[in-house]
Amino acid sequence: MMRFELTILGNTTPFPSKGRLPTSQILNINERLYLVDCGEGTQIRFNELGIKRMKIDHIFISHLHGDHYFGLFGLLGSYRMARRTTPLHIHCPTGLQELIELEAKISLAGPFLFPLHFHETTAKKSKKILDNADIEVFTIPLKHGEIPTTGFLFKEKEQPRKMIKSKIAEYNIPFQAIPAIKNGGFFKTPEGKVIKNKELTFAPPAPRSYAFCSDTAYHLPIIPIIKNVDLLYHEATFNQEDGIDASKKGHSNTIEAATIAKKAKAKKLILGHFSSRYTDLEALAEEAKTVFKNTEVAEEKKTFVIGE
Ligand SMILES: [Zn+2]
Ligand SMILES: [Zn+2]
Repeated sequence: MMRFELTILGNTTPFPSKGRLPTSQILNINERLYLVDCGEGTQIRFNELGIKRMKIDHIFISHLHGDHYFGLFGLLGSYRMARRTTPLHIHCPTGLQELIELEAKISLAGPFLFPLHFHETTAKKSKKILDNADIEVFTIPLKHGEIPTTGFLFKEKEQPRKMIKSKIAEYNIPFQAIPAIKNGGFFKTPEGKVIKNKELTFAPPAPRSYAFCSDTAYHLPIIPIIKNVDLLYHEATFNQEDGIDASKKGHSNTIEAATIAKKAKAKKLILGHFSSRYTDLEALAEEAKTVFKNTEVAEEKKTFVIGE
């Protein structure tokens, strides 16, 4: 099975505190790296965890609050210094390109030597923004005050059907005929007998998926987009116990995040974007568990295997 893993680099709000850093995550999908948000300190985590920044070709930025992209200036600077030549794609809201270009202009750094492509997202409706051999990526429009914000859904591509090995010998199926059978075709024996696909193959494992939802108030319209997701990251800036009106601040509390996971029938929930007021993150997960049992803290430096 292809690798599909999420590593948490940062899980806090704008104040880096108690060793924690703002939002940043890395997905390893079939040995390609995808960076999801790029808070301050992202490169420090790369160094700590031995993550190869040159293996990143796509960066996804949820919105333009600094705690989700301030690390990008440093990262792009590193690419410049390291003389990156391969193209880099940044999926982000309108405005980021202008910010990056302004920095390059004011610092007199000159143009980037590698092709830098900006793909602007819209928070109005869910759209497919990437489609390659391994995955499809869709935006998840979120509700975060006035600022356009999207989450991202990473979905494994449907795999071809699997051959039943014993049938290859049984019907003497030549090697060249196998790809067509894996794609649903039948097999005709030299005697002209048709063997149906169902007898030759079995269904592949269901495509796995990961949904990233930060920052957002409790927002029910995301449910159909993230339905049955294997792993859901949902922000929980506050706990419920403190009685803070998270929604008013464009954020969610633990119980709201858990309710979204439950309604979406997610298999697992991880919580992040914690206010720096909290030191006991496990207590936040415990509160969420009263609504959705399979909840964990999106602990920094921890890797989650999608679909496990
Ligand atoms: Zn934030
Ligand atoms: Zn924000």
